[in-house]
Amino acid sequence: MTEYNATEEEQLLTNEELAALPIEELIARNACVVCLRVLDAGAIGNFIGSGLAWTDTHGIARHRCGATYIILHYENDDENKSRAFNVPPEFTGIPELLLLMRRFWQETHSIVSPGAYCFPGSSYSNDTDENVETWNSWMTAHNTEYEAAIRAFEARRDAVLS
Ligand SMILES: [Zn+2]
Repeated sequence: MTEYNATEEEQLLTNEELAALPIEELIARNACVVCLRVLDAGAIGNFIGSGLAWTDTHGIARHRCGATYIILHYENDDENKSRAFNVPPEFTGIPELLLLMRRFWQETHSIVSPGAYCFPGSSYSNDTDENVETWNSWMTAHNTEYEAAIRAFEARRDAVLS
């Protein structure tokens, strides 16, 4: 299981202050959108100690809380084209689920979306069965809110597509 050793001093603003900010602003302030701690994506190429680790999926890393971000961006999404540097990390999760993910993290300090972007048994992900069980049982216990968040996401997606 990924170690979590962050201290309170690492927190940039109070949870209330941070939680009021939009995703882009949090990332601009170098804060993880889920655990609200330092994201430190500037340490690309030296992830040890940065709180970010690569996944099995090219260019995607996850924070110690489990939140996943696209770190490497490519021109026109073509990996054969040169990397576009100075592009901020891009949160890969569903924005409508963010508040639930934050509450899950605050209540359990267990990894959010365990195994995301990793193959089962991957050395990149040493999440445990306990991580998966904690995630699944918490989301089941909050199913009404989860379903509402998914419906909100689908409504936004459908509005964009129509
Ligand atoms: Zn985090």
